[in-house]
This record gives sequence, C-alpha cells and structure tokens, in this order.
Amino acid sequence: MRAEIIAIGTELTTGQTVDTNGPWLSQRLAELGISTAFHTIVADEVADIVEALRIATARVPLVLISGGLGPTQDDLTREALALAAQVSLVEDPIALEHIRTFFSSRGRSMPERNRVQALRPENAELLPNPMGTAPGLFMHLGQAMIFAMPGVPRELQVMFQEQVRPRLLLADRRTGGVIVFRKINTFGLGESAVEEKIADLTVRGRNPEVGITVSDAVVSLRIIARYPTFAEAQAQINATESLIRQRLGDVVYGVEEEELEDQVVRLAQEAKTTLATAESITGGLVAHRICRVPGASQYFQGAIVAYSEESKHRELDVPWDLLRTHGAVSAPVALAMAEGARRRFGVDIAVATTGFAGPTGGTPQEPTGTAYVALVGPQGTEIVRQVWSGERTEVMSRTAKLALNLIRLHLLKLSAK
Ligand code: ATP
Ligand code: MG
Repeated sequence: MRAEIIAIGTELTTGQTVDTNGPWLSQRLAELGISTAFHTIVADEVADIVEALRIATARVPLVLISGGLGPTQDDLTREALALAAQVSLVEDPIALEHIRTFFSSRGRSMPERNRVQALRPENAELLPNPMGTAPGLFMHLGQAMIFAMPGVPRELQVMFQEQVRPRLLLADRRTGGVIVFRKINTFGLGESAVEEKIADLTVRGRNPEVGITVSDAVVSLRIIARYPTFAEAQAQINATESLIRQRLGDVVYGVEEEELEDQVVRLAQEAKTTLATAESITGGLVAHRICRVPGASQYFQGAIVAYSEESKHRELDVPWDLLRTHGAVSAPVALAMAEGARRRFGVDIAVATTGFAGPTGGTPQEPTGTAYVALVGPQGTEIVRQVWSGERTEVMSRTAKLALNLIRLHLLKLSAK
C-alpha cells in the first residue's frame, strides 16, 4: 500500500515550524510495510486543503493528515474534508461530552469556541484523543481511506498508535510484510573510504539494503530490510550489522541516536577512568557534550576553556616560549594544554583542542579550519591534526567530535588490555 501524508499549518509553510509529524508517520507506516509516496505541506487555507485532498485521494489509497483540528478560525481540516466529500458537518454528542469533561476535569468550563471540535463530516468516524480536546477523524473519500490527527506531536503519536495503527493492520492483512530500519554510526573514515569497505553491501537491489549518509563528520549507514515478518527482518538486519562491524571495526561507535559522548561516558564508567578537557577552539563544547550524558558526573572532573594565549599559559601552564615558537595552533601547544589539564585536575585522561575555526585567522601552514586535538592518558599520548572545510560552528562541532572520538578510542584500548 502507498500513502500520502498531508501536514497542515501556515506555521509549516512559512518555515516557522519544521514538520516532524510527517517523517514520524512515515517511519511508523514503513514498520507496517506501507511506503509513503508523497509528503505534502499545506497552509491553513480551506481551498488549498480541499485541493490537496483531491490530489491525494486520486493517487494513493491511504491519506494521513496532521493538524488543523484545533478550535480556532485557522483550523480548517474538518471543513475541508466535508467540502471535498460534499457532505455536511454534524455535531457529535459523544465528542461534545468528551470535550466538556476534558475541561471540567481540569476545573474549567468549556469555552464556546471549542464546540467546533465536536463537528465531523457526517460520514466520518471520530477517533478519541486521550491527550487533548481535538478528536481525530476517519473516513473514506473516493477510493481512499483518510485519517486526520491533531498537529500537536504528542497527541498525534498517541492517536496513531492507539487508533490508526490497528485500523491499518486490519485493512492491510492482504499485502503483509514489514520494513525494518537500523542506523549504524561511524566516525573517523570519510564517506568513500567507508563505501569501499562495504561496497558489496551497498549494491542496489540487495535486501537488506545499505545506504550511506554523512552529517557533520559522522558517516551513518542505514540498513533497510523488507521481509514478510518482523522476526525475519530483524534477523537479517542483525546479520548485515555484524558484517559492517567486522569490516569497519572501531570506526563504528553506535546505533540509532547514540552519540560519541554516550560511548565515552559508558566506557569511562566501565574502566573507572576520570576525564577532563582543556578547550580552545571548541569553547567548552566537548565538556558540554559529555555533561549531557546522565552519569557523566562520576568520571568527568571538569573543563578549562582557555581561549587566549595568556589563559593557556596561566590556567594550563603552557610555557610562553612554546606559544611563541610554535603558535597557539600547533601540536606542541595542544599537547601542553592536555598535560596541564591532566595535572591540574588530577585525572587519568585529559584531552585538549586548539585550532582556527574561521572565517578569518590561519596561516599558510595552518589554514582556516585546522584543528589539533591532543590526548594524554594511561596508554600514552596522541595528537591528531585535521583540516576541516565548513563554516565556524561546523569546524567547532567537528573538532569536538574528533576529541570525543580520541577519548573513546583510548578508552577502548584501556578496556582491551
Ligand atoms: P490541532 O489539530 O491539535 O489543533 P494544529 O496543528 O491545528 O493541531 P497548531 O496550533 O497549529 O494546532 O499546532 C499545535 C502545536 O503543534 C504547535 O506547537 C505546532 O508547532 C505543532 N505542530 C503542528 N503541526 C506540526 C507538524 N506537522 N510537525 C511538528 N509540529 C507541529
Ligand atoms: Mg495548525
């Protein structure tokens, strides 16, 4: 079965809000073996919504709508559905009661304008909304099934799982099949270097299929498996993941939404290793990312953001002659910063960053985008130099990831001992 998702809202078409409901729904549909053929975003204009409904119902058998079920003037989904189906709107007594109860259970009386939320096209079934006042709608229009859900993501998600998904399962017994996804995250090899190592897995037409995407220096592999049952899809995904891990080794750092810092904190906990950072180019970003992980406080001691040469000397004991001879963006200075932080915090592992984030700065030898990351730890010292392209915040963010990855690899060495 193919579907179309229509997200309604002027805040979406004007770019003030980014549509997250559409992608979320597509993923849920994929899990049911339904592929999304079209995503449409429409403003709060009744004629435009009617037009979108006509187009969608003519080309796919399933249409999911998000938004426009609120109580205000710009909430036009009910009206548009009635117009497109050429039926009238009727007030639903059960829905009206639900809305009244929703307010009275919160000690308020129902505002008169909420009454419109009890309206439905006469051939539509209402879908209960346990999270809010706006009920959803289920109806047929032409050859298509239509589900309309509230725009508030939390309400839409609960309604999809409780009301829409069971109905789709019933309707789609015939086609069957599921699509299961998994994302494998890697750091440290470029996109084409990764591709080379797994070229046989990325050939088109393979099942599971493997695709490669890059985002902010992270190369991710998306595995998509299409099989008759969830168990089969899962088993095939596991097999493909194992192959990827064999080929790429410790370049793989996590799956799905796992971040480098999640691994850093997990490994530090396992090895009972304390950490600190000395940050110039990253301005505290490495520390920030580590601190976002619950449980970081046990092993992360602190950070010194030493931006000026003066503070590198004063706070981290970087010798003046080192700064003068090599410049602040250099391997010896990065190393001295890490050593200073390790001594001052009394930690096992300290990592330091220095570089030219741009847009200005840099020298012929060390152009804009150059970063040094140094690490001092129980397994010795490591220094990495990288020249990034990209703008200032990208250079900063990528250098922070480089530092986190260096800690991760060092911790892996420790745990392999
Ligand atoms: P409802 O049908 O429940 O009234 P609505 O879309 O008409 O929803 P809005 O006031 O437009 O109501 O949106 C409610 C909240 O949901 C807002 O915070 C809005 O940004 C968010 N929202 C609406 N549509 C989407 C979407 N497609 N993706 C992400 N957020 C959305
Ligand atoms: Mg809206």
